Amino acid sequence: MKAVEYEGGQHLVMGNREPVTPGSSGVRIRVAYGGICGTDLHLVHGAMDHRVTLPHVMGHEMSGVIESVGQEVTRFHPGDHVTVMPLLPCDSCPTCHSGYRHICPNLRFMGIETPGAFQELWTVPESVVYPLPSDLPLRLGALVEPLAVACHDVRRSELQRGEYVVVLGGGPIGALIAMVVRSRGARVLVAEINPYRLSLLKSLGIDVIDPGQTDISESVLADTGGRGADVVFEVTSSTLGAKLMTDLARPRGRIVVVAIFPAPPPVDLHRVFWRELQIRGTRVYEPEDFREAIQIAASSAQPLEKLISEEFPLEQLGEAISHLKGGGGVMKVLIQCDPLAGN
Ligand SMILES: [Zn+2]
Ligand SMILES: [Zn+2]
Repeated sequence: MKAVEYEGGQHLVMGNREPVTPGSSGVRIRVAYGGICGTDLHLVHGAMDHRVTLPHVMGHEMSGVIESVGQEVTRFHPGDHVTVMPLLPCDSCPTCHSGYRHICPNLRFMGIETPGAFQELWTVPESVVYPLPSDLPLRLGALVEPLAVACHDVRRSELQRGEYVVVLGGGPIGALIAMVVRSRGARVLVAEINPYRLSLLKSLGIDVIDPGQTDISESVLADTGGRGADVVFEVTSSTLGAKLMTDLARPRGRIVVVAIFPAPPPVDLHRVFWRELQIRGTRVYEPEDFREAIQIAASSAQPLEKLISEEFPLEQLGEAISHLKGGGGVMKVLIQCDPLAGN
């Protein structure tokens, strides 16, 4: 079967691998679609070489169809549409025992520490597999993982209906957070500077602002009768974002740090003190977030489809990654891994 392998030194090649036979509690999935994530870009750039075993198959956002199952697997059958929650916690540390398995310090992330989804057949433990409704297009099934990130982020914010939310950063995760916020009956403003993403979000009926053009602090104060935002999501990993998050939050407002900051940014702790702001971290997802994401995708209430800007075949994963790195007119890029899996 075909599998795209990262060989180190920013090289991807099309490899030919023997499909892995599932163990008694494993399943083998014919991968329909895989989404490219910022993590995959970092990986190909060499930033995760200390975490991967070469040659490495990456990819953790996916949908597919069960091809075969181990003899102890009763929940799944060949032909079932599924996605994967790509977390392998250790289950034996104090964090896991406290119920926070998703942030286990020994967590192995599938597609980084173990082989991922950019191959035709992916063998995984049954425990990480989630069923997708058979009438949900598999293309949208590949968006469940990033949507689950957004569901977790919003859950961490303890959002209330009618609240006013600012999302700093309008890439795929920022856009998905905006959709989840909207589905909860709250108001949302997305700050973004990329013109393509601004107009795409606008076309989805999401309020946007370009902080390079308009004073965002003034706009938020005007929108909220001088109070400020109830919740701010920081999704830019920029110094400006780290400054705006404390500027925009109302007294006792909640700030949710979604972005992965490569270096600690300056944070206005005086403002955190003065306004009694709450800063919360958020990382990946828990099973309830995955279940909620599947429900949102299946409800078709949010225009997820519109976030898919391009689709490439598995052979062109390298080109797709270069295209994404080029920036500009791009949102979520999907890879069709095995056309036999269907759409
Ligand atoms: Zn991802
Ligand atoms: Zn653990």
